[in-house]
Amino acid sequence: MTALPQTDPQTFETLKDALRAALPEAAVITDPDRLAALLAEERDLFESNATLAVAPATTEELSIAARLCHAHGVPMVPQGGNTGLVGGAVAKGGEVLVSMTRMNRIRAVDPINYTMTVEAGAILADIQNAAAAEGCLFPLSLGAEGSCTIGGNIASNAGGIGVLKYGNARELTLGLEVVLPDGRIWNGMRPLLKDNSGFALKHLFIGSEGSVGFVTAAVLKLFPAPAEVQTAFCALPSPEAALGLLSLARRLSGDQVTAFELLSDFACGIVCDHAGGVFPLSERAPWYAVVELSTSRKGSDLREVFETILEQGFENGLIEDAVVAETLDQRDRLWALRERTPEAQKRAGGSIKHDISVPVSDIPAFIAKATQAVEDYMPGIHPCAFGHVGDGNVHFNFTQPDGMDKQDFLAHWDPINEIVYPIALSFNGSISAEHGVGLLKADEISAYRPEIETELNHRLKAALDPAGLMNPGKFIGKGKAQS
Ligand code: FAD
Repeated sequence: MTALPQTDPQTFETLKDALRAALPEAAVITDPDRLAALLAEERDLFESNATLAVAPATTEELSIAARLCHAHGVPMVPQGGNTGLVGGAVAKGGEVLVSMTRMNRIRAVDPINYTMTVEAGAILADIQNAAAAEGCLFPLSLGAEGSCTIGGNIASNAGGIGVLKYGNARELTLGLEVVLPDGRIWNGMRPLLKDNSGFALKHLFIGSEGSVGFVTAAVLKLFPAPAEVQTAFCALPSPEAALGLLSLARRLSGDQVTAFELLSDFACGIVCDHAGGVFPLSERAPWYAVVELSTSRKGSDLREVFETILEQGFENGLIEDAVVAETLDQRDRLWALRERTPEAQKRAGGSIKHDISVPVSDIPAFIAKATQAVEDYMPGIHPCAFGHVGDGNVHFNFTQPDGMDKQDFLAHWDPINEIVYPIALSFNGSISAEHGVGLLKADEISAYRPEIETELNHRLKAALDPAGLMNPGKFIGKGKAQS
């Protein structure tokens, strides 16, 4: 595991006093009960042990805190909703945890420019609701949307279910405000679609996992709110059929497919067994897809279009059975089968997880090859693949074999990575599609990308965070430039 910094206790005490003197009382947290809420880790993979956190209410307060940490040489760990899946918001070695959750105002929704201006700690679901109240759509949508923050979404370049149509957080971010590691503020809050006035600096911070600065506010891109949404749950014979259906649906609908999620029968089964899912069809099938079409045009023929897609899908042998939601409640129940998969996997025993992307057309071959290789390594293991197949992202997960001890199973995580990752790379894929690198993949990421990419990552980190104080030991991976 990457060595993490330890701060001299005396320096830490001096910093604590300086923070207390400079910031309002509510912004400095040392009380163990208040700290405990910030130390949980979504997957129970890492222990977080910060003894000092700051929770600024404004950009200026954060700027003061960062300036003081910088002056004392103490590292900082940004934290949003703490829903990340790779340990990126975990504090390990005497860092100051910086909680962004008090900076949570939605400053403006602008339905003329189709933009909104928000602070980094705003909860994603609150942002979606504020956009909807003005007849707009903010299309970033993911399972953790009730608790993740937009700052965390931007810092991790979150994906989710809308990427196929609307892109990931990067595509949805027009402008940014950032507090740099030395406390200076960069105001890049321009609500512009076109701005070629130098390097697009915002992109250095989007997806940087808190390694080069704090995202404090953002200008987001909006779309007209959907007037009609149609959702179906389709039983499929294979991932190949899923791709055939996706292509058919995009073509026949005039590209109105806004979500296309695949899940295996095992994944669906554990949601029904462990997470309250209700299977909506009469017969089980090897695979399923949740398919959603939407349009902002009132009085459209979307339902008829969807029925034509499903009919042709049946005729072409792509679909075995399907149900279309008739009510919002039914739609929620269909989505629950996909969205509760992580929760169900947690309850079904130990799980080994991979967040893979490959070109969309290679998904079936990747799943077949990697599944076979892992089953050869560990007979009886349960493949539990699901994900955002419309954009090439498979959560290529496994649940422990029946009767195996959970810890014994988890001890195989690295060897299974060593089977899965080279196969992903052989398809020109990525071993970190949307969840990021964090602590979880910090040790291995460099082995799975060209050396020159690691070198460039290190150079950018050194340029933007020369003192190495932002989220140390995470994200950029080991490499020559680190020494
Ligand atoms: P945190 O977990 O607090 O932090 C994540 C990273 O960003 C850390 O490295 C942290 O240091 C950094 N960070 C946080 N805030 C800031 C800031 N303001 N400035 C700089 N750095 C910051 N992710 C997807 O991409 N797609 C999904 O479909 C998806 N589904 C999920 C479903 C569930 C049930 C769960 C639990 C998680 C899921 N995730 C998904 C992962 C997670 O929700 C996202 O990564 C989310 O974007 C993290 O936001 P957060 O506010 O919780 O960030």
